[in-house]
Amino acid sequence: MRVEDHLTLDIEAVDFAVDMSNVVRNRALPGDRPADLRRFLGLVRAVVRYTRDESAQVYAVADASLLSLRELTNQERTTLHRWRDAGLIQVRDVADDRLLELADLAGVPVISDDRFLDAYRTYPWIAGSRDRFFRATAAPDEGGVRLEPRTMSIPPDWQISRKEEESRLLAVGMYDRRHGTGARAQLLTRRWRCPEDDCPIFGADAPANQPPPVFRQGTVRCPTHQRPLTDVGPRPAQKQFKLRVDGVVKARFMLVAGTPSVVGRAPTGPGLALAREWLDERAHGRISREHVELAWDGTRISIRDLSRNGTWVRRDQGADAGRRLPSGGRSPKDRSAWTLRAGEVIVLCDGVELVASGRTFVFDTEETTVPAQPDALAVEAAQATMIERPPRRR
Ligand SMILES: [Zn+2]
Repeated sequence: MRVEDHLTLDIEAVDFAVDMSNVVRNRALPGDRPADLRRFLGLVRAVVRYTRDESAQVYAVADASLLSLRELTNQERTTLHRWRDAGLIQVRDVADDRLLELADLAGVPVISDDRFLDAYRTYPWIAGSRDRFFRATAAPDEGGVRLEPRTMSIPPDWQISRKEEESRLLAVGMYDRRHGTGARAQLLTRRWRCPEDDCPIFGADAPANQPPPVFRQGTVRCPTHQRPLTDVGPRPAQKQFKLRVDGVVKARFMLVAGTPSVVGRAPTGPGLALAREWLDERAHGRISREHVELAWDGTRISIRDLSRNGTWVRRDQGADAGRRLPSGGRSPKDRSAWTLRAGEVIVLCDGVELVASGRTFVFDTEETTVPAQPDALAVEAAQATMIERPPRRR
């Protein structure tokens, strides 16, 4: 396993956000040094096992102090610098803020031992949360590290302070009860440019898949340089698909609105090429070089069978064989499209399936706009309905 293959700052691809320093310095994990980067590698393997996803992705955030920590070896520090410069991990003065922003903006679960008590006021959903925080624990018989869900505590004065905080945030337009809309969703639906040209994340040569910027004092800023970012246009809408072979996720790809993608053994255009080692002899023989085409117009996903041996769709739950798509001729006219419905899985051959990612992204909601400052009446009305918890997004 190459750990670099599991590191991303792409908010749409990520499965877990990780507090790197917290894991590397956790002496309860294997390793006899006070800080040991191998603990982080063990954690990445644990994420792969936990998700049953060989392509699982983590968004790792490191405290700046970790990169010069003397308890690490020279080689470990060099590795961390290399990852940072390649845009594979993010380095912040304080990692906590970023981790919670990711959780709040996009529902990314967080791996950390931290109790985050001082953040309860800003993020009231932390209190009592049972499915959004995980920790790494020692597991000698499972390769060293295991991933475990945590239940977050509910401090006694929480009910009162939460309401107080919500009111304050609402007044400045930052508390977004309908997640996925409003000012903060705007951060994720635009592309941004940092004034520092060599910025690894928002610079001129940075990869197209940007992590979310930060929003401070009413300004969108670079998380690395703290400088205000320029909006350089809309970010294309994307949906993530996973390739599952006999129940284990082997790979994933992004379907970009307006760009049809083909999945098969050797597609010529955008899409996913199925590696030989993912398939047994039988599957390899049944799957065509270009097997199925997926297209998304921003609203509907349509699929066309291009294969020799057929493509099926079936409900994700249940054992039925599903229905076979009308089979493809070579000219586009001959291939009729099937509109994929929620919960449907595309079957390339028995045991080899494409499934839409379970994460709900803000991009799944319709057009978003930056709301105006709420007027006093709206604030009052919203406060009156604030008894319920913020909606869960997963
Ligand atoms: Zn920057």
